[in-house]
Amino acid sequence: MMNLHCKEKARLFLAHETAGAAFEDARSRLTAQLDTTSHKEFDRLASAVKDALNKVENARKALNQHVAEHNCLVLENSMTT
Ligand SMILES: [Zn+2]
Repeated sequence: MMNLHCKEKARLFLAHETAGAAFEDARSRLTAQLDTTSHKEFDRLASAVKDALNKVENARKALNQHVAEHNCLVLENSMTT
């Protein structure tokens, strides 16, 4: 298990997880409707995916920055890329 002794890190990690789940959700909605959706709806879904991805990236940056500054380290494999 991860060491979540740092509350701020735990909060940021959770925000990243939540953003990641929202992104997966938006992406699967988009791919599920690829063949059937209208152009307009496709654009809407595609931009929702893009927004969600931005949130994931921001959350990851915030997390990485916190860990770098606070030295509260080690988020196992999933965060190494
Ligand atoms: Zn910390």
